[in-house]
Amino acid sequence: LPLPKLTVNPICNSPTVRTSAVGEILIDAHSQVRTHLLNDPHHKLPQVVPEGVIVSEISVDKPALDRQLALGHSPYRYICLGKDFHTFVGLQFVGPDAQSARYYWFVIWDDSNQGKPDFCPKTASKHQLYQFALKEGASFEPKLTEIMRLTNGDGVAILSLGIHDLVLEFDQLSRGHRIALVGDAAHSMTPFSRRGACHAMIDALKLGKAIGERGPDDIVEDLEEDTQEMLKRGNEAVLKSRTANEERAARE
Ligand SMILES: Cc1cc2nc3c(=O)[nH]c(=O)nc-3n(C[C@H](O)[C@H](O)[C@H](O)COP(=O)(O)OP(=O)(O)OC[C@H]3O[C@@H](n4cnc5c(N)ncnc54)[C@H](O)[C@@H]3O)c2cc1C
Repeated sequence: LPLPKLTVNPICNSPTVRTSAVGEILIDAHSQVRTHLLNDPHHKLPQVVPEGVIVSEISVDKPALDRQLALGHSPYRYICLGKDFHTFVGLQFVGPDAQSARYYWFVIWDDSNQGKPDFCPKTASKHQLYQFALKEGASFEPKLTEIMRLTNGDGVAILSLGIHDLVLEFDQLSRGHRIALVGDAAHSMTPFSRRGACHAMIDALKLGKAIGERGPDDIVEDLEEDTQEMLKRGNEAVLKSRTANEERAARE
C-alpha cells in the first residue's frame, strides 16, 4: 500500500517478549499491546471476578475414558441447583492408540467473601485445595466427580486461579493510531457463557471485511468505528458471562 509504514516496537520493556513489526496495521490479539493504548497506563486491567477456581489435570486409562465419554463428549459440566459450586470437565486429548486420554477439570464457586471461613484458596496447600474440591463435590452423583477422585495420586499440579475479565471503554483508549484490538485482548470474559471465542471470531471477520472494503487512507477512522462497535458488543457479553452460571442453573 502506498502509505508510510507503521513501525511498532511496543513491548521491549518485557524481558521475555521482544516483538517488533513493520506494516500498515497492527492487530493485537494477545493483550501485550493493549497497555500501550490506554490513556492511563496505570489503570488496572483486567478486573478480578470474585470466583474461586481450582484447576487440575489427569491422565486416564481406557475404562475410565469410556466412563467419561458416556457422560459427555468434551467438555461437560455439572451444576447443582441451590448450591454455589460448579464443575467443568474437559477432554484435552485422546492418546494415539485410543487407550488413554488426558482430561482437565476445574471447580468454581462464588468467592465474593474472599475465602470461606475455614478455607482460603490463596494460601491453601495443594492437598487442602484438593480436599476442598472433593468435599464440595461430595453431594454430586459419584460418577460426576470420578475424574476429581481419580486425580488423587496422579501427582499433577492442583492450582488455585483467579478469574479475570475485561470491560474496556472506548474512551480509555488513545486515538489516531493504526492498531486494532480483537478477541480477549479487547473483551476477555469468564468461560461461563462459552462465547469468548465466538466474539473473537466476529471481531476478526468484521475487521477483515473493513480492511478489505475500505481504502487505506481512512482506515484509522474506520478502525475507531469498528473498535467502538466491538467494545459495545464485547462488553455486553463480558457482563452477561459473569452471571451465566447462575442463570443457566436457574433455567435448568
Ligand atoms: C476453560 C475455558 C473454556 C472456554 N470455552 C469456550 C467455549 O466453549 N466457547 C467459546 O466461544 N469460548 C470459550 N472460551 C473462551 C475462548 O477460549 C477465548 O475467548 C478465545 O480463545 C479468545 O481468542 P483470542 O484469539 O482472542 O485469544 P487467545 O486464544 O488467547 O489467543 C492469543 C494468542 O496470542 C499468543 N500470544 C500471547 N502473547 C504473545 C506475544 N507476546 N507474541 C505473540 N503471541 C502471543 C498466545 O499464545 C495465544 O495463542 C473458553 C475459555 C476457557 C479458559
